[in-house]
Amino acid sequence: MLTGIHFLLTYTCTSECDHCFLYCSPDAQGTFTKSRIADALDQAAQISSVRWAYFEGGEPFLFYPLMLDGIRMARDHGFQTGIVTNSYWATSMENALLWLEPLRDLGVADLSLSDDALHYGAGSDTPAKIALAAAQKLGIPASPICITAPEATSEADDPGVKGAPVTGGSVRFRGRAAEKLTSGQPRLPWQEFRECTHEELQSPERVHVDPFGNVHICQGLLMGNMWEVPLAKLIAEYEADRHPICGPLLRGGPAELARFHGVIPQNGYIDECHLCWETRRTLMEQFPQYLAPKLVYGIAE
Ligand code: SF4
Repeated sequence: MLTGIHFLLTYTCTSECDHCFLYCSPDAQGTFTKSRIADALDQAAQISSVRWAYFEGGEPFLFYPLMLDGIRMARDHGFQTGIVTNSYWATSMENALLWLEPLRDLGVADLSLSDDALHYGAGSDTPAKIALAAAQKLGIPASPICITAPEATSEADDPGVKGAPVTGGSVRFRGRAAEKLTSGQPRLPWQEFRECTHEELQSPERVHVDPFGNVHICQGLLMGNMWEVPLAKLIAEYEADRHPICGPLLRGGPAELARFHGVIPQNGYIDECHLCWETRRTLMEQFPQYLAPKLVYGIAE
């Protein structure tokens, strides 16, 4: 049952993190307009089970007035609201309070703050910690998101080490991570990845929607386009087993996805997302309505 709609408010970000699964960067293009947010909220309101609207990115605070308007409109639709941010704006407690006070006044119910070495290096005095303290002072529910970095091991690039320890931290090897962070990681044969354990493919509880109308089940894996088909219709008519990508994933994970579509995998992969991601990239031209946008696959439009 769908309970949340997550706005990828923009693909633009202050950072270009190696582990970003959306390939966001300062140069990445694509940002919602106010009217598109209103349209998406109207569509979400047609689905009685939706309770939450999240604003994410990219970095949503880069478009602060737009984000505030979006939150206001979401609240007026009766949704609880949340935000995911890298906290770049929390340059001091005084500044952080300035940014956060309007969010408190709008009743934001969840603030997730990226706070890890992948964003800020080894330093302990991060903007996220300032943001967290400011949120607590204002009574805004807030919590850090900590993604741990992969460590290189001596098992480097050995594709045949069955049962080798995966040291990828909590990074999942999709998006830019599949390009930038794979070196030195132990790998398993592709046939080992027989399940997607991270997404509710059968009946998604939340979807991400982007400025182009794409409705993402997982990043770059689409249910359809809500500018072309209303979200309520997409949800009502979604049959995971008949979806050309989700169907094989449900039957046998990324290994079955590759096998079913005749993709010949390489020797070894780090985790299920790594195989899934590489297989999906290969299938993009064949299923453009289900595997998009190109920028999420690191391909210039
Ligand atoms: S296995 Fe594929 S669909 Fe599942 S979470 Fe990983 S990338 Fe997403």
